[in-house]
Amino acid sequence: MKARWLGFVSIALLALVSCSTVDPVTGKRVQNMYLIQDDVQMGREVMADTVAAMRKEGVRINKDAEQVAKLQTIVRRITTVSHMPDLPYQVTLFETNIVNAFAAPGGQMGVFTGLYHPEMGLVKDDDELAAVIAHEIAHVTCRHTTEALTRGMPLQLVLLGASIYAESKGKQDLAMGLAAGFLVYQGLVLPKFSRADESEADSVGLMYMAKAGYDPNAAIRIWERAAARGKDPKLFAMFSSHPTDSARASALRKLLPKALAEYERARDNPSRP
Ligand SMILES: [Zn+2]
Repeated sequence: MKARWLGFVSIALLALVSCSTVDPVTGKRVQNMYLIQDDVQMGREVMADTVAAMRKEGVRINKDAEQVAKLQTIVRRITTVSHMPDLPYQVTLFETNIVNAFAAPGGQMGVFTGLYHPEMGLVKDDDELAAVIAHEIAHVTCRHTTEALTRGMPLQLVLLGASIYAESKGKQDLAMGLAAGFLVYQGLVLPKFSRADESEADSVGLMYMAKAGYDPNAAIRIWERAAARGKDPKLFAMFSSHPTDSARASALRKLLPKALAEYERARDNPSRP
């Protein structure tokens, strides 16, 4: 995996003319030296390696048929109304107590069952699960991974992963150890999204979930709950990242009237996906 991934980076570095394109989602001019096919291929490789690494740790993958079907329905409904409905989307369920979800480029997403664990989880209903997934789908359609790679992000990441690992190493908690290991691993293969990327995924994701007929209030509930839990070390990656959770909730609140209008429209439309 690493060799292949380094291949991508060196090809990118050799492409001295980086390409400036208009982001189909935001209409902003962005730098991305990769083709969308690169996103798809990179995402497949990252997911195949993540599945192999997790399986080695004894994690069950896609075994809970009911949960997998539920996730697939949410993904289908949201991607249908997204800016890139035709990407080969795929969601993988990792059955372990990590409170996290992640997006690899090109349509690959991972969800950990810890996300909706009754006590330590953060997601309490299907609308909230849809909010998390819509956020991850927005990272995919906004192509945040290859944009970050274009900016030359990966090296900083290894350091970040290593420091989080060092912090949590002493804790006698199997899920924590696995989660820390996962973060180190993910840090090696995926760049960390910037604060701006996270805000963009929040706002784009909010509109996606609303258009797909999920109640956008759920997105605000999640960040408020995360803010109330404070610096809980069990809330990894997406829940501990950059814009503070309460700031995320208030930014989303500003967009809520627009999202609610879309939600009402989607509910009134019987042909919604
Ligand atoms: Zn994110």
